[in-house]
Amino acid sequence: KIEKLIELDKKHYLHPTTVPKSFIENGPKIIFHEGQGIRVTDIKGDTYIDGASMLWNVNLGHGNKELAQAAYDQMSTLAYSSSFYGYSNEKAVRLAEKVVSIAPGDLSAIFFTSGGSESNDTAFKLARFYWDLKGRSTKKKILSISRSYHGATVSAGTATGIDAFHSFAGSRDADMVRAKSHLTNCELGDKNDPNYEGCIRDVIEKEGAETIAALILEPIQGAGGVHVSPDGYLKAVKALCEENDILMISDEVICGFGRTGKMFGVDNWDVVPDIMSVAKGITSGYAQLGGVLVNKEIRDTIVQYDQILGHGFTYSGHPTACSVGLKTIEILERDNILDNVNNMEKELKKGFDYLTDKHRYFTKSRAVGLLAGFELQQDRDLDVPFSESVKPASFVVDQCFKHKLILRAADFEKGKDIVAIAPPLIINKEEISEMINIIDAAVTKFNKTIK
Ligand code: PLP
Repeated sequence: KIEKLIELDKKHYLHPTTVPKSFIENGPKIIFHEGQGIRVTDIKGDTYIDGASMLWNVNLGHGNKELAQAAYDQMSTLAYSSSFYGYSNEKAVRLAEKVVSIAPGDLSAIFFTSGGSESNDTAFKLARFYWDLKGRSTKKKILSISRSYHGATVSAGTATGIDAFHSFAGSRDADMVRAKSHLTNCELGDKNDPNYEGCIRDVIEKEGAETIAALILEPIQGAGGVHVSPDGYLKAVKALCEENDILMISDEVICGFGRTGKMFGVDNWDVVPDIMSVAKGITSGYAQLGGVLVNKEIRDTIVQYDQILGHGFTYSGHPTACSVGLKTIEILERDNILDNVNNMEKELKKGFDYLTDKHRYFTKSRAVGLLAGFELQQDRDLDVPFSESVKPASFVVDQCFKHKLILRAADFEKGKDIVAIAPPLIINKEEISEMINIIDAAVTKFNKTIK
């Protein structure tokens, strides 16, 4: 039965973000069957710790019966309803009110989507639409940051700062510009090079503020390798945006709903963006849902429009997804999940200290809540990476997998060998220790491969 499934998978299933040729040769690495808490079991019966919450989304862990019940109850009552043409449904209304009530500042309305990419495309469209309504229709460009990940649709994919994604099949949204991330010295590079990505201020000056509608960033870059904004950075970016009438979009698709120990990533730095995109954690991955929150000024401007708003998805405001979203937030609040995240951050950091002391290549560990990562470097004191052929992050992630821990490597960028860790937010102290022990064994094995 398992062999048959593997054959069928190879034959008929085109997988996202996978090397197709190697997939056809090797088949799926794992076929998941069930999950409970922080663990998932495959069809062979092997159980793994899900140290990545799958795709940073299964925040309340696997097998949560309350979430399943919320879906079942809503499906049995009204599985689906349109939210087009003046229609609405109770769960979407209640979730809109709830999300707005926990969102920072004056974010005061939400447009529902079915996921993160749709949310970011929607954010770009709403930003451009807002400026049109304000009579400033030259403001069309979206400014994004290198190493960012914003999704796979054409616009979100173009905004993404990881080349493999933004150049896929020539996908391009023409009105996109990119600036260097906070991690790179803006002065490096040849400013006459057409591919030079300057820092944010440079790009605004070069393009002209009157051409830029919005800037998008993740408060902590996830897929790019868990890069944390330095203190003061987000506030400075917000001020720069305000100075230039550029809307600030915070992509909270990973950071939102408790991942960083605060409800939203920007809350760590007390910054209120003009627009915020969410997905993933809003339903803990149990249903496909995303949304774009806009501030009062944008909301009040949009609602004056007296023609059809030509944008929406069949599953915008899906009642079943919204019901699961409401239950997710209820559990986050009722079970004080954020407190657990903050406590487990401390445990994780203790584990990182231990690994830093023990392993000479282990370095640059970081954790904000349970969004965490570490790097492997040839010489951590002199900041020297391993040569490209070594691939230490992938090696360690493979070893962890052998020891039944799922993590994720972020080693697409030359000289950066990062391992990302993002376990479900319900993880406990013993389970953190289990993860650290496995990473310890994996790094020990890696050390032995280096002469
Ligand atoms: N934004 C961020 C920060 C993400 O990490 C992701 C997905 O990983 C997306 C957007 C895209 O979300 P989706 O895959 O649901 O379209």
